[in-house]
Amino acid sequence: MLKVKNLSKKYGKVLAVNKVSFEISCGEIGVLIGPNGAGKSTTIKSIAGLLRFDGEISIDGKPNKSIEAKRVFGYVPESPSLYEYLSVWDHLEFVARAYGLQDWKDTADALLTRFDMDDKKKKIGKDLSKGMQQKVSICCALLIKPRMVMFDEPMIGLDPKAIKELKEILIELKNSGCAILISTHILDSIADVWDKALIMNKGEIVFNNTRDAMALSGESLEHIFFSKTEEEETEQ
Ligand code: ATP
Repeated sequence: MLKVKNLSKKYGKVLAVNKVSFEISCGEIGVLIGPNGAGKSTTIKSIAGLLRFDGEISIDGKPNKSIEAKRVFGYVPESPSLYEYLSVWDHLEFVARAYGLQDWKDTADALLTRFDMDDKKKKIGKDLSKGMQQKVSICCALLIKPRMVMFDEPMIGLDPKAIKELKEILIELKNSGCAILISTHILDSIADVWDKALIMNKGEIVFNNTRDAMALSGESLEHIFFSKTEEEETEQ
């Protein structure tokens, strides 16, 4: 579903991402982890179509910046950026109109209920807490019933009930065949949901393996994370 091939991105002279390649299949939850500055956000923003980059990124076989790809693709950025003077419901309606969704209101209501936001429908963006803004951002991404969805640090700012709800939603999406990519620093927050682990360090993917394959070796993701990222550091 998601194919990233030889993705490279430079900011001036800084090579933030260097020939990164990986795939996330339908019904698979990939987790992208790495130390600060590893290149995770740059990778995520490139996939989301927000940056110019070298290489190829396709979603459902279409170039990631094409309308066809955007139609099936949801993105929850690290920092929610809501419209200050649009209400929660306005945001959902905006997405519904932009994507030409039919019969979206029941889905929108159900999403808001799951995140305890049904009494906040009329609140405007600037009057929402950071966690509430994050919830709206998640609801907007899920409203389109994406076939591929990407979350950058989705749990930050969410209360425990919302974290539990989001984890359940991730499993539901996966079971419906959606491909999911999550970037996070908090390994515990996704410990029980991921299928494929991608570890980035210094702009490169230094580890790419599935939970099933790792179960055979018996190594924990946390252990592999430190061995891969520290090993790279001592090589310098
Ligand atoms: P973090 O975990 O701290 O969010 P990250 O893995 O998401 O880090 P990136 O934000 O992708 O890392 O940054 C990768 C590299 O690119 C870093 O060296 C960073 O300093 C650099 N970088 C990121 N954004 C820019 C920018 N807009 N201009 C210049 N350099 C940038």
